[in-house]
Amino acid sequence: MSEPSFRRDKLSKPIFRWARHVLPTLSETEREAIEAGDVWWDADLFGGNPDWAKLLAVPPATLTAEEQAFLDGPVNELCRMLDDWHINWERHDLPPEVWDFLKRHKFFAMIIPKAYGGLGFSAYGHSEVIRKLSTRSIAGAVTAMVPNSLGPGELLLQFGTKEQQDYWLPRLAEGKEIPCFGLTSPEAGSDAASMIDSGVVCHGTWQGREILGIRLNWHKRYITLGPIATVIGLAFKLHDPDHLIGDRDDIGITVALVPTNLPGVSIGRRHLPALMAFQNGPTWGHDVFIPLDNVIGGAAQVGKGWKMLMSALAAGRGISLPSLSAAGAAFTAHVTGAYARIREQFHVPIGRFEAIQERLGRMAATAYLLDAARRLTCAGIDHGHKPAVVTAIMKEQATERLRVVTNDAMDVHGGKGVQEGPLNYLGAGYRAVPIGITVEGANIVTRSLIQFGQGAIRSHPYLLKEMAALEDPDPERGLVEFDHVLWDHVDHSIANAMRAWGRAWTGGMFAPNPATAAATSRFYRALGRYASAFALMVDVALLTLGGGLKRQEMISARFGDILSELYLLSAVLKRWHDEGRQREDLPLVQWCMEEGFATIEARIDQILANFPMRPVAWQLRFMLLPLGPLRRGPSDRLTQACADILLEPSAARDRLTVDLFHGIGDDGLARLERAFALTIAAEPLRERMHKARVRDVNEARRQGLINDAEMAELNAAAEAVSAAVAVDDFAPEEITPRLARSAEGEGPSQTLRRPTAAE
Ligand SMILES: Cc1cc2nc3c(=O)[nH]c(=O)nc-3n(C[C@H](O)[C@H](O)[C@H](O)COP(=O)(O)OP(=O)(O)OC[C@H]3O[C@@H](n4cnc5c(N)ncnc54)[C@H](O)[C@@H]3O)c2cc1C
Repeated sequence: MSEPSFRRDKLSKPIFRWARHVLPTLSETEREAIEAGDVWWDADLFGGNPDWAKLLAVPPATLTAEEQAFLDGPVNELCRMLDDWHINWERHDLPPEVWDFLKRHKFFAMIIPKAYGGLGFSAYGHSEVIRKLSTRSIAGAVTAMVPNSLGPGELLLQFGTKEQQDYWLPRLAEGKEIPCFGLTSPEAGSDAASMIDSGVVCHGTWQGREILGIRLNWHKRYITLGPIATVIGLAFKLHDPDHLIGDRDDIGITVALVPTNLPGVSIGRRHLPALMAFQNGPTWGHDVFIPLDNVIGGAAQVGKGWKMLMSALAAGRGISLPSLSAAGAAFTAHVTGAYARIREQFHVPIGRFEAIQERLGRMAATAYLLDAARRLTCAGIDHGHKPAVVTAIMKEQATERLRVVTNDAMDVHGGKGVQEGPLNYLGAGYRAVPIGITVEGANIVTRSLIQFGQGAIRSHPYLLKEMAALEDPDPERGLVEFDHVLWDHVDHSIANAMRAWGRAWTGGMFAPNPATAAATSRFYRALGRYASAFALMVDVALLTLGGGLKRQEMISARFGDILSELYLLSAVLKRWHDEGRQREDLPLVQWCMEEGFATIEARIDQILANFPMRPVAWQLRFMLLPLGPLRRGPSDRLTQACADILLEPSAARDRLTVDLFHGIGDDGLARLERAFALTIAAEPLRERMHKARVRDVNEARRQGLINDAEMAELNAAAEAVSAAVAVDDFAPEEITPRLARSAEGEGPSQTLRRPTAAE
């Protein structure tokens, strides 16, 4: 029993009683989602006063020599083997030799430790592999990605028993087993916890013996690798009506390993996700019997499935899709800059038109930002964090921003991006964008419910502790704890409110900035200003709207946007610092900052305009945004400076597109890269002709403006450009019968004719 205290008894106690009464109830699944993973830089942002020295001290993500050798060796070789057109349109699958290569070189075992025969890669090593593969073939990248993402491998590593790990992990590492993960069902998508797939504890026969096990019935859909999997990590609701393993009827969501060769399992049919030919399909199980030992973690882990899934997702969703998206952004920036440089209309490279530069500038800056955020997130994960809120930000923001730049790339390429065929290097990425938006937590849910909804509880410096105290079954102990945390919270909130107000009214002039970063110090200060405004608004929103915030998805989503911007912009500053503060990259940094600040101010404004408690909103507006939003986004000149980076070879351009896979042979990308190089090389000659007002090469030769070698150089560049802007065309019978033949099981048609470089 603690000492009596005036503060506790007269102030904290009534609040404690009231708060216990009004505390929103969290469902078990919500609680498990909130408790999954840990907090990291997000906690600093929620605290309102981020410690920049701490961020800059995070060691940058790096590759081991072994990871680098894997990228230079097997990954490059695999890229050379991947022909995306053949995979998607002719074979509708990866070729057997690619499957073989993936298994032999352990692409499916990047996360499995070496002790079990896997590659034991870091998050960054894993991410770099996915990044490079994504720029060659999305179907190939997704196939390699999925066994390393949420699924049996990850779940066994985190929760498997020793016996399960010893048996399954080496088999997965060697590619003897192909895993898939079965969570989604027709009735339960985003609300996966509402699944009706069931398991019933019962006795049954297993390898000739009568044992205690589970009889399963399920219908799952959209399952990646499902059609060819040998083992399903299956999520279902476990029931024990005869109380064979306890006294509860409903045990809850459970995850078990189900070999697909068991009687009652149906696999093999396929979906065609956005016409991408990676394996994806439904699976059914009818009265499939498995031993209790097949539950991941053994019988002791029955009913803990949701917690396991959330925990595995906490790190995983920060790697796969963000890597694919960062790769997509860098790739589209690379090819669109090159295309805008070689493609001329009205006798001018289209990249010189301001309206095209508007798109190019955004693409360049987005590529810089997404890779910055990918690297920072991998660094955090490699230092042992599982930052659930950060990875939710990464998943949603990376895939959304990829959608924007992919649309930009398509628009700049015009018909060249639209016409499908082996020469089209954009179409597959364009079609695949909605897949990333949908999987691993559909973006609308992630933005409006998870980032801020979970973050406000999980990453907030006091809220989770306050909730724990309020829920303490011993009210006296709870009150003592609540009293401490509540008044720390009040102190913190008062200090933060003063800080937020002061920083808003002085434009962040006195907010901290790391002394080493002169060129970017105003950005650190502005971010500090917005972080304290965010923290104040969070406190006020929680106090006034409480559990109601959960239903106010539009407000919650805007808070999520502010938090996302704070994280992504921190990553941009960190990248600039880690890469040695390259001056040529400053326009990219500035663009990201100006755009992000404008978004933050717009979201603050929108939250305040829609905040249900008007007097509170007026007060906040007076403190935080007295003159309304003032940030207008990047200037046109800044956007042009970013666009220019994509239009000319430079170290800055190389840094943006580092380690992407380049074109090979006569493929579309190789043609473009060759045309770009020759166009740049011939530029002085074109300039000479331009000054003499001569357009025709033959005429220039006749007038002696250029010699024979120069004429040949100009002609070679022109031919390369024609080859690069060419698109595929097909005889009608090449298109229609192929579909018919494939449906009749005759296999892929012969390769379609490609226009030659001369055409
Ligand atoms: C190509 C592909 C591969 C996949 N691979 C796998 C796999 O390997 N294993 C697996 O288990 N699953 C897999 N999935 C399933 C994927 O995780 C689900 O598609 C996803 O969870 C969304 O479910 P849904 O498609 O049924 O959409 P729905 O849940 O029906 O959602 C429709 C829309 O409503 C929104 N929405 C839903 N609830 C709310 C809410 N409360 N507030 C606001 N908006 C809301 C969603 O954001 C979405 O925009 C895959 C899906 C695809 C397309």
